[in-house]
Amino acid sequence: MGKIMPALFLGHGNPMNALQSNKYSEGWRQLGVSLPRPKAILSVSAHWYVDETAVTGSSSPETIHDFYGFPRELFEFSWPAPGSPELAGRVRTQLLPLNVRLDQQRGLDHGTWSVLCHMYPAADIPVVQLSIDETKGPDFHYEMGRLLQPLRDEGVLIVGSGNIVHNLRAYAWGDDQVQPFDWAVRFESAARKLMLEGRDRDLVDYRSFGEDARLSVPSPDHFLPLLYVLGLRMDGDKVSFPVEGIEGGSLSMLSVRIG
Ligand code: ZN
Repeated sequence: MGKIMPALFLGHGNPMNALQSNKYSEGWRQLGVSLPRPKAILSVSAHWYVDETAVTGSSSPETIHDFYGFPRELFEFSWPAPGSPELAGRVRTQLLPLNVRLDQQRGLDHGTWSVLCHMYPAADIPVVQLSIDETKGPDFHYEMGRLLQPLRDEGVLIVGSGNIVHNLRAYAWGDDQVQPFDWAVRFESAARKLMLEGRDRDLVDYRSFGEDARLSVPSPDHFLPLLYVLGLRMDGDKVSFPVEGIEGGSLSMLSVRIG
């Protein structure tokens, strides 16, 4: 029996990180080196936020360029990791009686590849994506994480990719000197403290943080992947923050490692 795989929340931020060498991409590279080598990866990305739970079934998922207004080299970027119909089937079984739709067409979005391309540059580990059902509340997503826990014991690395603070309206594009907003710092600090204290339920109930939550999480898509990862926590798991930073005043790049 191998070691139980850690679980990760990855703050992905700007898709240009895929092409850049900076403190985030370097942190992701080191994270990839430090983890036990996974048999496969299951990614829950903020950018597959739809009205159902679905899983990618393709054995060669394409690199989706799901954004506008970025340089051509980003649109030409490809990270050709294989898929895993086997893992997709395993996920569907594990989430029964929920009917998880098998999507044979969907590829990998930038929430997945812009980070994993640094962690696993050889693109030689199979990757499956799970969608986030936008019609469900935070409790549902946390419970999904709990149901997926056994996969950690089967060599599967489960990653949630989003941003704990994600307010693009307040974001200072291209200005890396800007100071983080007070509300962003407060919300991120509160989230860290709750994670370290194991108070996951308080994070499921993040909307009770009032104004700081309203500004930090103006829509749930980038926050919900964190709840999957918290749901994956087992007794005795340590929590650490392998990558940190707040970009453009309002985008937390915090990554969380469980286990
Ligand atoms: Zn994003």
